[in-house]
Amino acid sequence: MARACAWLHLSSLSQSLLPGAYLRRAPPSSSMLPSRLYSPARLVPLSNRSKLPLTASRAHARRGPSLKENGVASAADLQFEAPLKIVEYPDPILRAKNKRIGTFDDNLKKLVDEMFDVMYKTDGIGLSAPQVGINVQLMVFNPVGERGEGEEIVLVNPRVGRYSKKTVLFNEGCLSFPGIYADVQRPESVKIDAHDISGARFTFDLSGLPARVFQHEFDHLKGIVFFDRMTEEVVESIRADLQALEKKYEAKTGRPSPERIETRKKKVAVGFGKS
Ligand SMILES: [Zn+2]
Repeated sequence: MARACAWLHLSSLSQSLLPGAYLRRAPPSSSMLPSRLYSPARLVPLSNRSKLPLTASRAHARRGPSLKENGVASAADLQFEAPLKIVEYPDPILRAKNKRIGTFDDNLKKLVDEMFDVMYKTDGIGLSAPQVGINVQLMVFNPVGERGEGEEIVLVNPRVGRYSKKTVLFNEGCLSFPGIYADVQRPESVKIDAHDISGARFTFDLSGLPARVFQHEFDHLKGIVFFDRMTEEVVESIRADLQALEKKYEAKTGRPSPERIETRKKKVAVGFGKS
């Protein structure tokens, strides 16, 4: 459990791992973050942006061939009620398709604020939109896990350009699986691109803990949950806990669990492909 706690309550280690290239745009009213987080020296160099396959202006296009895959979220898709509640396994919302975001407005900023709120309240360091019942391509994280410390990262429509060959094992937790922690093997670093909260597209490399948090949340945006990536032996160690969540869901909803760990496919079928 000691390592699991490290996942939730980060040490200062993460500070040095963050390239700091992906800062949250603070709303005018926000005074939570120290100004040093917005130092221009920590922003992505413009030269990086020019290398991106998608420019910001193209990203604002209403609908192109590249957006057809999951569709673009409508205003109704982005409606939410505060305070947000964490969706727990085996709710089918966690397996549903997540639409791309095409509108970067005040509603999106409010949703992001509420996601950070619930993330901090539940001692999380990362949270994806489907985990609060909104099936869109949006994630927030702060590897320090404390409001006012570290960096608040908002990624809209993120994509992975490259995974490292080197993989590492890490003890993960997930807000949608309260109290459950287990080892997951993932690439040590990733090259990604995403929109920020205002719609600008940027790219950067992540390694260490930020890469770990990103990949966990990125999986959520694809309907993948962390036990999908665990070995049979590791799943076995948390099987009873997963079944308890299935029973809890059935008692709460009066419906049969939409999935059961008992009928999980034997092999680990999830790979690390490009998006
Ligand atoms: Zn999770």
